[in-house]
Amino acid sequence: MIPSVLPTYNRAPLHFVKGEGAWLTEADGRRFLDLGSGIAVNALGHAHPALVKALTDQAQNLWHVSNLYQIPQQQALADKLVEHTFADTVFFTNSGTEACELAVKMARKYFYDKGQPERVEIITFDGSFHGRSSAGIAAAGSEKMVKGFGPLLPGFVHLTFGDLDGVANAITEKTAAILIEPVQGEGGIRPVPDAELKALRQICDDHGLLLILDEVQCGVGRTGRLFAHEWAGITPDIMMVAKGIGGGFPLGAVLATEEAASGMTAGTHGSTYGGNPLGCAVGCAVMDHVADPAFLAEVNRKAALLRQRLEGLVAAHPEVFEEVRGSGLMLGLKCKASNLDVVKAGYDNLVITVPAADNVIRLLPPLTLTEDDIAEAFTRLDATARQVEAT
Ligand SMILES: *Cc1c(COP(=O)(O)O)cnc(C)c1O
Repeated sequence: MIPSVLPTYNRAPLHFVKGEGAWLTEADGRRFLDLGSGIAVNALGHAHPALVKALTDQAQNLWHVSNLYQIPQQQALADKLVEHTFADTVFFTNSGTEACELAVKMARKYFYDKGQPERVEIITFDGSFHGRSSAGIAAAGSEKMVKGFGPLLPGFVHLTFGDLDGVANAITEKTAAILIEPVQGEGGIRPVPDAELKALRQICDDHGLLLILDEVQCGVGRTGRLFAHEWAGITPDIMMVAKGIGGGFPLGAVLATEEAASGMTAGTHGSTYGGNPLGCAVGCAVMDHVADPAFLAEVNRKAALLRQRLEGLVAAHPEVFEEVRGSGLMLGLKCKASNLDVVKAGYDNLVITVPAADNVIRLLPPLTLTEDDIAEAFTRLDATARQVEAT
């Protein structure tokens, strides 16, 4: 008999009932160190007092009004995002997937309104992940995601990750945009080198294309800058944001330049819940912390400490781990053992990591991780590796 919850997930037998900082308490009382943050969502950790206050204060007053009316919390969050980024304008969604939908629509509408309606194609890369909607799976194009779900949304050109020559050769009079994650998350924590992001920006400028960055996982302080592309010294035309921006409340956004957004006039797009008062009140509180240079300096300091411990871990367990990769607190351990076995052994040792493609385990801890947490992470991952070695 089919379970009452549609069985699309492979769930671990863990029932968390409470969270605090980087710690989760299981129903049986065991305390787990959370190095997954609900897949890069709990950017400020669990139950951060500022987020609890922002949410409960807002909940006392007003939960929802339609986007038919003014929403001051939404205005405030948009202003913060515009102030701290390349963007001139923001549309709020409830998820990364919806941000992908709008990014694709915005790019196509831009060229349509410019009198180039044939420019509909978007170049994407293997190993990418842009969500599970029809546009998202067509954009990523991996067999695992698209099989059985055809016909797919047309207009995506898939290239090999890192193949810059391929990009130059793939551009035609139909090309509208290049869509890329500055650091691939689901694909196995694969950072795009700064030089390559710069080159992609240059190619877009040379051919009049839009550069769309998917920072759903790598954005919001995760790599030690507010957004990952800042390391490369470039800016996109359109950017997808979600996960960390809501700190655990479902919230996403599309950020864009005035030019790239020029086709999105009144009535061309909308959302019932996107940018609702609860989500935006929390988003404002997240931004107030994460956009602070002192906060980001701490993220970088912690990231360096964690990375150093992980390098030691890999050196101590060459049969289990191959290398550390990633940026800031978006780290991956490429495994020699099965990554799923390592994640599972982690559960036995009360540490949570997240599997990714390419036999990698992801470490996406709360950005508020303490030095004690880092020491605990090492101890528990070391015990995890020993357990994997013994089996
Ligand atoms: C998670 C993710 C998405 C999809 O976001 P949802 O909120 O799950 O819809 C899109 N792009 C990237 C890079 C992601 O990591």
